[in-house]
Amino acid sequence: MSYLEEDYLQLSGIQHFEFCRRQWALIHIEQLWEENYLTVSGDIMHERAHDKNLTEKRKDLIITRGMPIFSRELGISGECDVVEFKRDDKNGIELNGYEGKYNVIPVEYKHGEGIEADRIQLTAQVICLEEMLCCSIEYGYLYYGKTRHREKITITQEYRKRVADDVKEMHAYMERQYTPKVKPKKSCQSCSLKDRCVPKLAKTDSVKKYIKERIEEDDI
Ligand code: SF4
Repeated sequence: MSYLEEDYLQLSGIQHFEFCRRQWALIHIEQLWEENYLTVSGDIMHERAHDKNLTEKRKDLIITRGMPIFSRELGISGECDVVEFKRDDKNGIELNGYEGKYNVIPVEYKHGEGIEADRIQLTAQVICLEEMLCCSIEYGYLYYGKTRHREKITITQEYRKRVADDVKEMHAYMERQYTPKVKPKKSCQSCSLKDRCVPKLAKTDSVKKYIKERIEEDDI
């Protein structure tokens, strides 16, 4: 299956979707967004990664910032913070205008500590790059601003399947314009949309139940 460009979803939304399906739908279907400390810090990290928006070469390494990426098969598009092309004349791919062959290695910048959703987002980037550049990518890096450390992530079949499953579900929600119901959880505390989503309301009784109980009270 191949998606039309107008139906592409934002690749970065996969992270919202992994955090909470309802949060993804509020942002991407209902177009709601609230900044909080975590989202602002994340934006600053990405601006820093993208600020040069150029390609530089250091010995056997070519570094590209803010590279647009997409996958027709998944129906997603976005940007890579950084893609490193590391010279490997045996296993790499040819790059227009450069001598030799290169391995492709995406590097995603993150503000906080490592979470599974970061790995899923990185995997989605890998799938896009593989489709665009006709190559295979075994690993990428997540760079964490908090620790100033980058973690090597092996792109497993399990991650690839999770990306495919997530994206399929996202397209289905988008097509139906459906926002999943509130499911309160611990992570609601750090959610930038908690004031709009109002997860506490999920714990209150439904209107139907409330009216039924009031009628029963009156009958006593
Ligand atoms: S407040 Fe909780 S249920 Fe609502 S969007 Fe955020 S994480 Fe999801």
